Amino acid sequence: MTVFFIVVLTVAFLVTLVAWNNHRRQLRALSQSLVRKQPYLLDQSAVDPAWAELCRQVNELVTDNDRLQRLRSDQLAQLEATLGSLQEAVLIVDSTNTVLLANQALQAIFPRATNILGRRLELVLQSVPFLSYVDSVRKNQATPQFEIEFVEGSVSTWIELTGTTVQALHDPRGPWLLFVLHDITKQKKLELVRKEFVANVSHELRTPLSVIKGYVETLVDGDTEILPADRERFLRTIQRHTERLNSLLEDLLMLSRLESINPGLKREPVIFRDLVENAMTDARSRPSAAAHHLESSVDPEIDRVSLDPLKVSQVFDNLLDNAVKYTPKGSRLTVSAQLKGRDVEVCVRDNGPGIPAEDLPHIFERFYRVDKGRSRDKGGTGLGLSIVKHIIQLHGGRVWAESRLGQGSAFYFTLPVRG
Ligand code: ADP
Repeated sequence: MTVFFIVVLTVAFLVTLVAWNNHRRQLRALSQSLVRKQPYLLDQSAVDPAWAELCRQVNELVTDNDRLQRLRSDQLAQLEATLGSLQEAVLIVDSTNTVLLANQALQAIFPRATNILGRRLELVLQSVPFLSYVDSVRKNQATPQFEIEFVEGSVSTWIELTGTTVQALHDPRGPWLLFVLHDITKQKKLELVRKEFVANVSHELRTPLSVIKGYVETLVDGDTEILPADRERFLRTIQRHTERLNSLLEDLLMLSRLESINPGLKREPVIFRDLVENAMTDARSRPSAAAHHLESSVDPEIDRVSLDPLKVSQVFDNLLDNAVKYTPKGSRLTVSAQLKGRDVEVCVRDNGPGIPAEDLPHIFERFYRVDKGRSRDKGGTGLGLSIVKHIIQLHGGRVWAESRLGQGSAFYFTLPVRG
């Protein structure tokens, strides 16, 4: 009897153990389905209706979640496709600042911000002003447009940022934020160039104007007993500074014409040798060039070149004028022209003092002078080489300079023969 009782108890224990194990296995499988967000395959042998109902509910939840997820990513993909083609960079983050969408234009602005989807904004764009703007948009306290400078190494990028909250797509955690980023680096640089230009022009105008003003006041209000020699000296100074103002204005007008949309290039086939000869005759006729040795050689293969004769003559004038101005008396100046493929390559060379290597890359910039005092004394405006560069580039040519300190300078330019 006791044995029978023990057997029954053991069998009952074993059956319960098997059932319990089975239940545990099923529970584990169900929880794994939840983790994997996949429906749970109900064991058809399961007889417990409560368990079957639980599994059905879980499966419904999983399917619902899956449908919503798909809907959300479909909508995001649609949004991405629409925004992807925009020139403006667009960025959408959720309530935790996790990046949900970033279009291609954003990558163009921040080439290093790759694979940013799903990453926190704080880790992607480590910019304090940007993050505080994000914060103010979230609190509805943001200014409509905000300018931020991103500096990476020596490169700085200026962004105009506009942000707004948008209703989240099936995201109960709170609204999303949408940002439109506009790259304004070019405008900022232009603004800087414009400011520098205005500052330079004002500076260039100030000295001659104040000298003229001073001498005119002395002549008008001063002692009537001004000696004729002094009067003469004052007037000559006024004349010199008026000429300086005049050259400055002429160069500025020329530059602004060359930089305008319609620079008025009048090309015609010109016998190149004649053009060079005329330039040499003009240069030789300058009193300052009397003591210089000027020579020219033009490749006999060069015949007619399609160019604007007035403008290219100005190029020769400026280069020869510099060569005369910046070299001592007795220096040798040569102009040579060679045919190189479809181009004429011209070199204006002198054996003067040369240009220091650190200044050489800048001499074609507006108002750049190696020796400011010397340039001004010689009536230079600091615009001559800039004008040369513009004229040659308008003709589709290139311009550059080579120099060794103490050994002279060589200015080269090319012109396409057929334009
Ligand atoms: P500037 O009116 O001062 O001559 P440019 O633009 O023509 O202005 O020239 C820029 C600077 O380049 C000059 O101020 C001068 O310092 C330097 N430069 C130009 N040509 C020569 C040259 N042949 N030899 C030495 N320095 C030169």
